[in-house]
Amino acid sequence: MAHSAISQVSIAAPIGSDISLRRSVVKRNSLSFRDKSWASTLSWDLKSQTALKSNQFIVRMSVQQASKSKVAVSPLELEDAKEPPLNIFKPKEPYTATIVSVERLVGPKAPGETCHIVIDHGGNVPYWEGQSYGVIPPGENPKKPGSPHNVRLYSIASTRYGDSFDGKTASLCVRRAVYYDPETGKEDPSKSGVCSNFLCNSKPGDKVQITGPSGKIMLLPEDNPNATHIMIATGTGVAPFRGYLRRMFMEDVSFKFGGLAWLFLGVANSDSLLYDDEFSKYLKDFPDHFRYDRALSREQKNKNGGKMYVQDKIEEYSDEVFKLLDEGAHIYFCGLKGMMPGIQETLKRVAEQRGENWDEKLSQLKKNKQWHVEVY
Ligand code: FAD
Repeated sequence: MAHSAISQVSIAAPIGSDISLRRSVVKRNSLSFRDKSWASTLSWDLKSQTALKSNQFIVRMSVQQASKSKVAVSPLELEDAKEPPLNIFKPKEPYTATIVSVERLVGPKAPGETCHIVIDHGGNVPYWEGQSYGVIPPGENPKKPGSPHNVRLYSIASTRYGDSFDGKTASLCVRRAVYYDPETGKEDPSKSGVCSNFLCNSKPGDKVQITGPSGKIMLLPEDNPNATHIMIATGTGVAPFRGYLRRMFMEDVSFKFGGLAWLFLGVANSDSLLYDDEFSKYLKDFPDHFRYDRALSREQKNKNGGKMYVQDKIEEYSDEVFKLLDEGAHIYFCGLKGMMPGIQETLKRVAEQRGENWDEKLSQLKKNKQWHVEVY
């Protein structure tokens, strides 16, 4: 993979002006680079309302003269640790972080709302890709008067360097939990999810109590940089994979990925796609190392004429998927709990059609540490 940073330019950009997830890139007063490098998708809204004045930072960016240079990150000491950070901040003594930005990620026809939330932890709550933060929403726990709310976990959607590449922020991908009355079908705001709505409603500069980082299941194994990673996500389950993929394809770090990353993303419709521009860019720039398949349940049909779920997409490529697993690929699942039964049934059926015993295969995958599941 080409990997050269030939010259660098320093650009002052407001923290929070995320460069990668623009559905409608910056329209006015924007500074854009239009060459073939990463910079082609990097645009900064100079009038960004999300900027925190005190948090101006400098992005040192590799300006490309050969193709596919990567973004410089700091502090590179974040590469040095041998063990992932774990539970530095606990629920009794959370860290008070600051909201940098909250952006709606989905288009108008998406059912529900999902937001990309950048949180400034000042470098005090370091994490690795695939870990989660806990968030304690403000207010009192209705089940324990006088006590704070319980912690809610959120997968971190950025790399350890954060979206500003300086190791000071973490990004979350949060879907507002809303409640629909089963009888009337109407939304009942009194039963809206506490923490997801707190996060999605928060404003730059607001404080947020965080704990963690937590979780080891979804850490990206980096022992073999040429490994295959098959990632299966539904909705916000894409969060850890966005972190992996930025580490593999966007950042100039010690992990020099030369393997295959294959993302299967299941959402309702094209307006619900998350980080699609970012993933499409990897597809264009790293076609030998990245595959990206989308299952849009309300827009596409599976081979039987039913809704296209992520397992139907996997089934389309089952020969390749099974072959890659046999060759040692890692497979990851993240998203709502409900995704797993359908996926497992499909994998079982495919295994049987291939004359294989799924239960044995699954226990072998688990034993080999190839099977990684984080569903909620
Ligand atoms: P809560 O207030 O806890 O309510 C839970 C649900 O109950 C809501 O759907 C709410 O509408 C409903 N409800 C409330 N009151 C009533 C009532 N009286 N009757 C019936 N129903 C009611 N979520 C993400 O969005 N993104 C992530 O990346 C993410 N990662 C996670 C990672 C892990 C490891 C885990 C365990 C969970 C993750 N979650 C993630 C889920 C997240 O932790 C929360 O569970 C979710 O945001 C809902 O929390 P809440 O406080 O908004 O809802």
